[in-house]
Amino acid sequence: MTAKTLGRNLDILDKYHKYADMAELRVDCLDPDERLLIRRFPEQAGMPVILTIRRDSDGGHFVGGEGARISLMARGLAYAETDRRHNFAYLDIEEDLNVTSLEEAARTFGTRIIRSYHNIKGTDADLPVKIRSMRRSGDEIVKVSVTANSTEDVINLLRAGKECEEQEKILISMGHLGIYSRILSEQFGSFLSYCSAISEPDTPPAAPGQIEVRELASLYRFRNITKATKVYGVTGYPLKATDSPHFFNTVFDMEESNAVYVPFPADSITDFMEIAKELNIEGISVTVPYKEAVIPFLDFQSDEVRTIGACNTLTLTPQGWLGTNTDTKGFSDSLLTFLGRSNFKRQHITVIGAGGAARAVAFELHRLGAKVLILNRTVHKARRLAAPYKFAWGGLDEQGIEKMDKYRDIIIQTTSAGMEGINPDNSSSDPAAMYNFCGREEVMDLVYKPKITAFLKRASNAGCNIQNGYDMLIRQARYQYTQFTGKEFPEHFFSRVQFGET
Ligand code: NAP
Repeated sequence: MTAKTLGRNLDILDKYHKYADMAELRVDCLDPDERLLIRRFPEQAGMPVILTIRRDSDGGHFVGGEGARISLMARGLAYAETDRRHNFAYLDIEEDLNVTSLEEAARTFGTRIIRSYHNIKGTDADLPVKIRSMRRSGDEIVKVSVTANSTEDVINLLRAGKECEEQEKILISMGHLGIYSRILSEQFGSFLSYCSAISEPDTPPAAPGQIEVRELASLYRFRNITKATKVYGVTGYPLKATDSPHFFNTVFDMEESNAVYVPFPADSITDFMEIAKELNIEGISVTVPYKEAVIPFLDFQSDEVRTIGACNTLTLTPQGWLGTNTDTKGFSDSLLTFLGRSNFKRQHITVIGAGGAARAVAFELHRLGAKVLILNRTVHKARRLAAPYKFAWGGLDEQGIEKMDKYRDIIIQTTSAGMEGINPDNSSSDPAAMYNFCGREEVMDLVYKPKITAFLKRASNAGCNIQNGYDMLIRQARYQYTQFTGKEFPEHFFSRVQFGET
């Protein structure tokens, strides 16, 4: 609870009551006058409350002296009642704070001590030693909250948790790279996870990387996650925004399967594969920039992966990691359905781009009998992609665009040029601006955000039929679901399962 007044915190608690099991009152976030009125908060909150007054050096907002902070803690514990629900249930005391009288008072009236350590700069090397040495008496819960500057930092925290399995503790990897430590508390060996009502304008997250309370409870079904829960997820970097958790978790929820799908931002694919082993992850979606880099970690791979050299799906099998590529079938299913066709025989098609997505597209166009021209800004990449299939190729220049005259039944745009957030000035958002649509072309753009790129808009204005990449995205995710679970995608869920913004 990080609002500035107790009243506002209570309003928020009221609104989000059903998503949380306990509350942490961050007294350091309150206005100074409000801090004097904290004693009755547990009774008003109606759920167990942690009393925390975090110093600024530990990532909090309390800038007064230690004497003032201790007095405030004592005020929170004062006049303890025999009905324990009216007292603070937990008191957070930093490991370097030594006030025996405070701790004794807490213990006498059943307030448990959370002995905490924060590192807002990084992750310490000797975590198992730290976790074991922090606890001063048997009923304390040790809290170690350290910042993940790398995926290796998260591995170290996870391993430390396993080494100290017998101990009651809270382990958090702060920041974006450690976001999954807040969802997979069970797997990290944590007693609880902290989250915030971030969607409220005046309640900032209490620490970097915190997840919105409703999202943690409803989307990730945090309360249902146990050690037996099957863990799936998506890895990439920076992986700031991904809609895949929404898609998969909605399906898992509807079919009531004991499974969760988690974002795993990772700054190194090698370290992420260690995380996958430590967390017993059973299926992984792979996105930018690891679709190629992940291949050396595969124990076996599908024909598509071998030919294309890109893998977007990892499935754990008894023989190890199987690598597949669902972009291929996702693409061809989508385009064939759009055109009402069953193959591309006698179709003359231009593919714009020669990156990872274009490789999946070229593979399918060849498999389904198309005659293809590949055009790319960097010409040698177009030549390299075209060669094994004996496709025509060229640059996105006058000469290349002229070649399109013979390959204009279907035009497929696979570059990221028109993608949201890529070209803020919109100057290069249409990668084939020199091409004039005649109006009879069927046009597909793999980009789905925005819904209509500058390229698609121009095609539509000329009278062409157009399709964006959203349908392909859904279809490739459905193939991933089958790959992960060994089951057909439950089609009757389809209308209810959507990626966020389409
Ligand atoms: P990638 O491997 O990084 O390739 C990027 C491609 O875009 C390259 O051909 C690059 O040309 C070209 N490019 C980038 N900016 C350009 C510009 N301003 N003008 C002309 N060409 C430009 O990326 P990718 O994995 O292929 O992804 C490409 C797009 O497809 C992304 O927007 C992605 O979201 C989308 N996609 C959609 C789905 C789906 O399910 N709908 C699936 C996969 C990918 P150079 O070689 O000259 O750099």
